[in-house]
Amino acid sequence: MPKAAVSSVPNAHSFSLRHLWFPLLVLVISLVITFFFWRAIERMDVERAEQIFQAKAEEIVSQLIRRLHDHEQVLLGANALFHMQGGAVTRSDWQRYVTALKLNENHPGILGVGYSAWLSSAQKDLHIASVRDEGFPDYSIRPSEERSIYTAIIWLEPFNWRNQRAFGYDMYSEPVRRRAMDRARDTGATSITEVITLVQETKEDKQRGFLMYAPSYRWDMPTRTLEERHRALRGFVYSPIRINDFVSNTLTTLPGSIDFEIYSGADSPPSALLFSSKTLAKRVLPDDYRPTFVYDKVVEDYGVYWRFVFKTLPAFDAELRREKSYATLFAGILSSILLSALAFVQARSRRQALMIAEHMLIAKKAAEEGKVVAEQASQAKSDFLSTVSHEIRTPMTVFMGAVEQLLLIDKDSNHRQLLELASQASRRLYILVNEILDFSKIEAKRVDLDENWFNLGNCLSEAMGMLAGKAKERGVDFELEIADDVPENIVGDQYRLGQILLNLIGNAIKFTDQGEVRVVVTNIGDKLMFTVRDTGIGIPEDKIDKIFETFSQVDSSSTRRHGGTGLGLAISKGLVELMGGEIGVQSKLGQGSQFVFTLPLKHKVFTGGDLGVGDDAAHGAGEPDVRVLLVEDNPMIRELVSMYLSRRSWPTTIAVNGSDAIAKWQTGNYDLVLMDLQMPDMDGLEATRQIRQLEGGREKKVVIIGLTAHASRNVLRECIESGMNEVLVKPFESARLYAVVDQHLAK
Ligand code: ADP
Repeated sequence: MPKAAVSSVPNAHSFSLRHLWFPLLVLVISLVITFFFWRAIERMDVERAEQIFQAKAEEIVSQLIRRLHDHEQVLLGANALFHMQGGAVTRSDWQRYVTALKLNENHPGILGVGYSAWLSSAQKDLHIASVRDEGFPDYSIRPSEERSIYTAIIWLEPFNWRNQRAFGYDMYSEPVRRRAMDRARDTGATSITEVITLVQETKEDKQRGFLMYAPSYRWDMPTRTLEERHRALRGFVYSPIRINDFVSNTLTTLPGSIDFEIYSGADSPPSALLFSSKTLAKRVLPDDYRPTFVYDKVVEDYGVYWRFVFKTLPAFDAELRREKSYATLFAGILSSILLSALAFVQARSRRQALMIAEHMLIAKKAAEEGKVVAEQASQAKSDFLSTVSHEIRTPMTVFMGAVEQLLLIDKDSNHRQLLELASQASRRLYILVNEILDFSKIEAKRVDLDENWFNLGNCLSEAMGMLAGKAKERGVDFELEIADDVPENIVGDQYRLGQILLNLIGNAIKFTDQGEVRVVVTNIGDKLMFTVRDTGIGIPEDKIDKIFETFSQVDSSSTRRHGGTGLGLAISKGLVELMGGEIGVQSKLGQGSQFVFTLPLKHKVFTGGDLGVGDDAAHGAGEPDVRVLLVEDNPMIRELVSMYLSRRSWPTTIAVNGSDAIAKWQTGNYDLVLMDLQMPDMDGLEATRQIRQLEGGREKKVVIIGLTAHASRNVLRECIESGMNEVLVKPFESARLYAVVDQHLAK
């Protein structure tokens, strides 16, 4: 007996392969989407990495330039000594000033602060004699050749062994130094030299360097014109700077993931190389290594150009690789599999539940029990489907948004082609998710139907308007006929009626190659009768009983041609029946089909206010500065919405949960709050209630727009009751967000 029972229980094998096409289709579509999504995120990661790289590079440039400016102040301070002392500055004054500066601590990399006197050939001998008198009997000016102008380094503090190598050196005799000195003398501004090797350098740890000169004029002489400046020049206050010490002390640590070079001049010949972090860090890179990013920056300051060339290092690439969105790829593949499993379960469980029930009836002889089990199984499946579909909505929002953003910024036509494909595929998946969700709700009889007055003609023309383009494309005539005795306004669920009409009319156009599609509405006493008639391919007799079942399609090859999920008619039938009507079909193969459904004419019983969800306002109410508080715990949605907002240049503050939102709202002056519903700690409904309470009788109330993946009417009602102005159901596109925001701000 158990053997017989087992053989009649349906098992996986009894579920024939032809039911697998749908889950497979879902799998393929969602894998394709995952792939595109992953690539899109990867591109964004790369762009972001480049921005981070450039920002780091800019930071390094500005740190170094800032340090130069700091140092200029030291030179100007030294110069000021002459003015204070009426020109009579002595070696020991200089020594005291420089000692007080604590160069080692405060200006590492600066070798010293010196003074070089400007001398005519006539002054030379007297000058040498006076320095020798100070206690330096060997002092002379180097090089010793005769010339008309001499300069001589007489003070250079700290006067250590290294700096003593420069004592008496005539910097003006050397062309590179001379250029900077002339520039300083002529302009009166601080100048620096191109690359030089300082006379202080020895054979050990030889570095390149440069000098910074501030011209020093006699305090009691005018310096307005070039000639006056020439006449007034007394010498130069200057500093020798060793570049490696200067850079490494300024930056504290050299970046590990970026190499950079500094060239003196706007070009980069090797001879102009001032600094190389690669050489300093003794880094060896593989011969074939090519940096991922290169950033080139030329800065003009102190009369010279400095060219910075930044290059990424392998450590940077490793970082980028680590951040790559493998998690997205993995999550995407996982949810693809989940989604197709769902489709599989959906297609199979209904049949199976019925068969189990039947089996139980026979095997155990307990009819009631069998039914309860079947119902429970069906309920559990519906719950599961609806939970998972909701979970899919959030990543879908991010995906569709990311593709939309990429389409806005990516100008490459190959990329755009791929992105358009991804966008189409995501729309398809979105429709599918919605249909599965809808169907599971209908099956579990958990659809909240609206009962409001609405204009029937508008509802019909809206549905037909959405499909008019398609009808025209297929060369099919499109007619609407409403009998005179049909009331203009009726009570019911406008949105759901629209959904049924879209499905039936959409099918009629889809399956008609020539002729017409005609929609007729008549009044048959206490009911309205809607007829959608086409002159299309028709439905074979043996299939006509089955087409209202889920995933049933007359010819699966037509799916490839026409698209579709096989859920539309099952949903339409479910909705019509929930509304108290009936649906049926008549058809002749090759001649056409006629779908008819009825709806009871109702009188208004429910007087709930219009939720205002879903009406699209025109976009473009000018560009006022809208201060936004974005409350959202999911970082991906946060980033996406922030991106949407930044396109309108709206300053945005982020809060990550309800209590954070309240704290931020209290200290800021916001025009708009975008409030996610489900958040840890305090959810969006509670946060909204508290904000409204805190606002009290205030005249200007902030606009609060809810963001949710739960489109059920109860949730939407709760949102409005908590004080939200409107709710956006995920996924939404930027245009929808702007439209809703503009509409409410205009109020
Ligand atoms: P689909 O998304 O595949 O169109 P439906 O449930 O809406 O799913 O339709 C199920 C099947 O019924 C279609 O695949 C098609 O074979 C058949 N069908 C529906 N409407 C028509 C029609 N007007 N003419 C011919 N066949 C139709």
